[in-house]
Amino acid sequence: LGLASSGHLKLFKKHPAVRPVLAQQSIRELNLTGRDYGQVLADAVWAVFQEDYRLGFGADGDHLKALDDIKMALDYGYTMITLDCSEHIKNFSSEQNAELEETYRSLAEEERVKLEKQFIGKTFNLKTGLRLTFTPEALKRNAAIYQQAINFAIMVFNQFIKPLQGKVDFEVSIDETATPTDPLSHFFVAEQLIEAGVKINSMAPRFCGEFQKGINYIGDLKQFEAEYVEHTKIAEHFGYKLSIHSGSDKFAVFPVIGRESKGHVHVKTAGTNWLEAIKVIIAAEPGLYREMHEFALRHLEEARKYYHISGDPQRVPALQDLSDQELPKLMEEDDSRQIIHITYGLILLAKDQNGKYLFRDRIYECLQRNEELYNQFLEKHIGKHLELLGF
Ligand SMILES: [Zn+2]
Repeated sequence: LGLASSGHLKLFKKHPAVRPVLAQQSIRELNLTGRDYGQVLADAVWAVFQEDYRLGFGADGDHLKALDDIKMALDYGYTMITLDCSEHIKNFSSEQNAELEETYRSLAEEERVKLEKQFIGKTFNLKTGLRLTFTPEALKRNAAIYQQAINFAIMVFNQFIKPLQGKVDFEVSIDETATPTDPLSHFFVAEQLIEAGVKINSMAPRFCGEFQKGINYIGDLKQFEAEYVEHTKIAEHFGYKLSIHSGSDKFAVFPVIGRESKGHVHVKTAGTNWLEAIKVIIAAEPGLYREMHEFALRHLEEARKYYHISGDPQRVPALQDLSDQELPKLMEEDDSRQIIHITYGLILLAKDQNGKYLFRDRIYECLQRNEELYNQFLEKHIGKHLELLGF
């Protein structure tokens, strides 16, 4: 929405060790909110002036896949590019050995020879104490899955980021894959990028378990902890930050992330600020919320095309059974949180037959009238994140 930065900055003023990346949107989010990179940055800059925040802030062109979009974000002055390599990452099921073999064979022979020499039969002793080895099968698998993504990231870095001589941070995201990134694969990708001269500021592997939008971590905490320790050792070895995508509300894993990363981590949150805005609407204009809620339920299937959630509308209490005083409960339940979370774009862009926005203008008016309350909610909620992360 462009209205959250002010609340964020009030909080960050109290935590000078944490630096905000205020502007952060993917192309999908721009399309779903009907905004562009210029507006997103302008809104962030406005908040910086409003709050007289002087410690600096970042602007992230998030999850960019297309070269034109990277160029656009850089032209707007964005200070960080998050390269989404997912279109170049191959996914193989456990039955698809023939396909995996074929993909490996399709790499240039020269490249395969180089990789085999570089990885097989060697022990990588990281300065952070981790030891990694590649069997021929592990090399083949990782190369089949990641090699084209690695080459894509090297090309993008050389073409767009390197000429800017360190003025723009480069994040490599390999998180949108069918399976979690195991630490060996993380190392495989990073080792080659670093060797090719890519300056990585942060890397986003897909961690085990599920990082669904707007709710706590789902998965095995012990396994997460064990793997996060290894991912951190790899990141530290190469000198970059881990980046936690869909990082909002993952309170169960924040203590581990905070302890291991010791402040050297990038946590991305976006949609949770929308849910805090929803809380303001519930408090100030419950009638408007009720309309939005009904609309979200009617259009949930459309939104599920973009976002994977486990939220189930059957488990959401019927709206007519809830008094206005009971509505805030909905923002404490995973099902309703997720349903309202992923339908943000449909809600914001919905128009009536005369081409007038159904909700958008009323949402903005409500939030502008209740700016103080929104700031309070944001300070409290994002503050809880910082606290559990150890700041
Ligand atoms: Zn991501």
